[in-house]
Amino acid sequence: MISHIITPEQCATCRLCCQFTRASQWETPSLSSKQENSLRERGIPLMRREDGSATLALRYSAEEAEDTCAPCPLLDPGRGCVLPRAERPIECRIWPLRLMRREDGSLCIALYRNCPAICDEKAREDLIREATGPLLPFLQRMEEEIPAAVRPLHPAYDVIWTAGAGSSKK
Ligand code: SF4
Ligand code: SF4
Repeated sequence: MISHIITPEQCATCRLCCQFTRASQWETPSLSSKQENSLRERGIPLMRREDGSATLALRYSAEEAEDTCAPCPLLDPGRGCVLPRAERPIECRIWPLRLMRREDGSLCIALYRNCPAICDEKAREDLIREATGPLLPFLQRMEEEIPAAVRPLHPAYDVIWTAGAGSSKK
């Protein structure tokens, strides 16, 4: 979906968004019911969020430090994500973009600022242009189609578009 801007090769050397500390567990991707059923049949550990949506379960050992990362159960250390790109949860396919909700209830598109692939200014600009242009109708439809994928706005994200206000490029 955005692999012409952030390449699989860049992600292969990073994998930051496939590992989670206890504090960032909220970032694990929401699963559609089809994905949930398919992963459950394969014995992949899943869990439910408070809102009832399904996500991937992480395993932390009690002895590990609070900020230790646990990998997504679908992350193979050598090959990366074991799912074909088209079958990955939607949040994984659009990362480092996220559909988020501001405190005032407005919907926005936000960009995770610590993704190494967008440290480059041109890549960041290209991604913002894509998200607020060709990809925008798709991202807007997500609110209705996958409501659990809309997360509260978090300080690690920069808002690049707000519903009703348009682009708010930083
Ligand atoms: S943080 Fe960015 S570069 Fe790293 S794996 Fe995720 S999308 Fe790829
Ligand atoms: S489903 Fe795949 S892309 Fe998404 S967090 Fe897990 S390993 Fe990463």
